[in-house]
Amino acid sequence: METADVVIVGAGIAGLVAARELSHQGRNVVVLEARDRIGGRTWTDRRLGYDLEIGGTWIHWTQPHSWAEVTRYGLDVTRGPVAEETYWLAGDEVRRGGLEDLMGLIDSGMRRVLESTRTWLPRPDQPLAVEGLEEVDNRSLQDALDELDLSVDERNANESAWVGHFNGPLDQCSFLSAMRWTTAAAGSWHLMHEATAIYRLAGGTRGLVDAIARDGGADIRLDSPVRNIAHDADGATVSYGEGKEIRAEHVIVTLPQNMIGQLPVDPPLEEGKTAPSAEKTGSQGVKAWIKVKGPIKPFFAYSSQQHPLSVVRTEYLDDDVAVLVGFGADGSRIDVNDAEQVSAALRTWRDDLEVLETTGHDWMDDEFSQETWLIQRPGQFTKYHAAQQRAEGRLHFASGDHANIWAGFIDGAIESGLRAVREVS
Ligand SMILES: Cc1cc2nc3c(=O)[nH]c(=O)nc-3n(C[C@H](O)[C@H](O)[C@H](O)COP(=O)(O)OP(=O)(O)OC[C@H]3O[C@@H](n4cnc5c(N)ncnc54)[C@H](O)[C@@H]3O)c2cc1C
Repeated sequence: METADVVIVGAGIAGLVAARELSHQGRNVVVLEARDRIGGRTWTDRRLGYDLEIGGTWIHWTQPHSWAEVTRYGLDVTRGPVAEETYWLAGDEVRRGGLEDLMGLIDSGMRRVLESTRTWLPRPDQPLAVEGLEEVDNRSLQDALDELDLSVDERNANESAWVGHFNGPLDQCSFLSAMRWTTAAAGSWHLMHEATAIYRLAGGTRGLVDAIARDGGADIRLDSPVRNIAHDADGATVSYGEGKEIRAEHVIVTLPQNMIGQLPVDPPLEEGKTAPSAEKTGSQGVKAWIKVKGPIKPFFAYSSQQHPLSVVRTEYLDDDVAVLVGFGADGSRIDVNDAEQVSAALRTWRDDLEVLETTGHDWMDDEFSQETWLIQRPGQFTKYHAAQQRAEGRLHFASGDHANIWAGFIDGAIESGLRAVREVS
């Protein structure tokens, strides 16, 4: 049987970082990737005439692991145009203003809902340090927002802002997740917004992914879905593709939370890994790219969490066209590849936009991700976080989904890959 020092399941960012580091240590590494491309939930693709990020997009200098990669490979970031107009809803009535008006509208709600963040999470790198964290983890973000008694337009705008961040219905998302995002940004909701939604890589995430993959020269095999893993005290045998097998001293598994429970492993994985997989993430939403006829002024809009698109804003602006990006809480409410449905969603705010083309990807229905970016359901973090990270014999686990600091982000994927490498070493 073929042998390797380490087999890595998945060539997303967690797997690629692990492969790079282990290759630099002189290990013989084989990466098995089910898709015909690397990058996993990051995917720069030429669509609508632009290099669009179909998955992970925004990164920031407050994300320590991501920024180390930016420095290492000499990458650069850029941003979309600053909004000159904003739209929001007071009931069914559309309100208009400038960016300051919209940010001012959500400021009080944001500050109040997040005010105990630093009490519960003084150290983002040690997220389980404070006792009794279940108290906030067991609550949904909706529970916490409902207590604020916000006016109707404040409520719509705050909920929409959180749908933009959480990509799921807020009653299914843990309140603690909101605090984890915010403590990673030193407790400031303004910084948290900037860190998670403004700056993107000038050469696309493709530039980062390709740089990591090239560095170290691990053997990356595409179209190689792993079928099952049998492990013992000395190593593991990984079956993949059409009847192929490889034996390794260590295996690093990088499957997303929603998938890992479906991978046959013998002896089986502990319940702390399979139970959250069966429960699924709270995030279950959609990201849309929308090309509209120009010229338009760059704009930013919040509707409500019930609308198919809760947030829309201008990301690319040219003289004759603009490309908008939008987010909704529930991927089943809208087909983002259907221009008619997307036009109807935009008419929530304005009927003067002519939609030329739309695109997106159904990550929930993608057999190799089955989720967008991780937001946990109430209770999942305190119950499962330690188990999700824990090695089982010669099996190790890396995923942006169970990072300590920026879980659910590119940064978290890098952090988790480095942690798994340290264990193997
Ligand atoms: C729409 C969207 C928007 C996002 N926006 C942002 C953002 O703006 N900023 C940010 O930082 N993050 C964002 N994210 C999250 C970020 O992309 C992920 O957290 C990160 O890329 C996860 O990396 P990973 O390596 O942990 O997992 P993945 O990228 O999911 O990698 C796992 C790999 O395993 C492969 N695989 C699955 N099953 C098998 C199998 N049986 N055998 C072999 N291989 C298998 C998959 O194909 C995949 O390549 C976004 C994600 C999505 C989907």
